[in-house]
Amino acid sequence: MLATKLNVAFYGHVRQYHNIKAEIDANIHEVLESGQYVLGPMLKKFESELADFHGTKYAIGVGNGTDALWLTFMALGIGPGDECITTTNTFFATAEAIWIAGATAVFVDSDPHTNCIDPTKIEAAITPRTKALVPVHLYGQCADMKAIRKIADKHHLLVIEDNAQAIGAHGDGFRIADLSDAATISFIIQKNLGTFGDGGAVVTNNAEVDRIVRKLRNHGSDKRSCHSPGFNSRLDDLHAGVLSAKLKHTHEWSDLRRKWAVRYTRGLASAKNIALPYETPGYRHVYHLYVIETKLAQHRDGLLAFLNAEGIDAKCHYPIAIHQQEGYPWGKPARIAGPIPNSERNAACCISLPMFPELTEEEVDYTIDRVLDWDKRIR
Ligand SMILES: *Cc1c(COP(=O)(O)O)cnc(C)c1O
Repeated sequence: MLATKLNVAFYGHVRQYHNIKAEIDANIHEVLESGQYVLGPMLKKFESELADFHGTKYAIGVGNGTDALWLTFMALGIGPGDECITTTNTFFATAEAIWIAGATAVFVDSDPHTNCIDPTKIEAAITPRTKALVPVHLYGQCADMKAIRKIADKHHLLVIEDNAQAIGAHGDGFRIADLSDAATISFIIQKNLGTFGDGGAVVTNNAEVDRIVRKLRNHGSDKRSCHSPGFNSRLDDLHAGVLSAKLKHTHEWSDLRRKWAVRYTRGLASAKNIALPYETPGYRHVYHLYVIETKLAQHRDGLLAFLNAEGIDAKCHYPIAIHQQEGYPWGKPARIAGPIPNSERNAACCISLPMFPELTEEEVDYTIDRVLDWDKRIR
């Protein structure tokens, strides 16, 4: 056991800013001096870099990751009467966006290992109203997109990837947005590519999605003074400047996250009372979160309280699954298709350990040491 108590933060935003301050400051100043802050040249530049990063034809900057989802749903004609199949163990916004578009969220169980949607549960949930599959690349690892694509082709369904958490990840032979109609991204500060505030984007190879989302985000306008009903959901040029500076570091930051994940997984291998994250062979997991699960649900809150008391800002993602939220489903249409024991286990047992590129070996080792100490006391 290490003697000294450390405070280990959950996020490293300020460390990250200090590491590349000159690059971020230069872009911010460039925007400030340009006099163009909305739909300006910095946004255009960042959209083109983001499309290159994903290997897609198009990238459209919007206000946040939730808007990216429902603007995409609307662009694809998903609305009232349509059903979208997804999971309940995700951030609330996935279902929220389906409801904002006026469609019905249908929840199936998640895979017990990856915690992403279980493709073998999808077909039983399909009805004549099913219009789209909405897999979430939870915690930074892609869902099984090949299986999802096959089901979508067989049943003529749209696929929208909620990629708020996995920028820079890939599967075995597929990239994000390769096997779908569009993928959406969130740039809120805590995501792997985060700005100092809110932001989001849609990446797609579909020209119509590009055209319609571009129009919808800007008051239904693609020509000065001409409008159809739309919304105001643009990515500001200041945020685009921050993101453009950070995008260049995204792969190197993913490598660091993966390095810390390897260190956690080696260090925690002997623990008897927890399960460690699973990596699908051939996939690149970018560890937005490093999520362990207590083997028994009754141990979770105790471990979380123990780590917090030891100075480690561990958290839970997500302790209350969407169907367990108070007021669910807010009077909006939703249904659960079949039992969802894996999603419920994930909500009951999950703990996220500190995970960000700027962690130090000392912080990771201290965290490992404290988890092992708890584990010994439980035995
Ligand atoms: C963060 C997140 C969103 C929403 O993104 P915002 O930018 O906060 O609107 C949607 N889905 C998932 C899975 C997320 O993690």
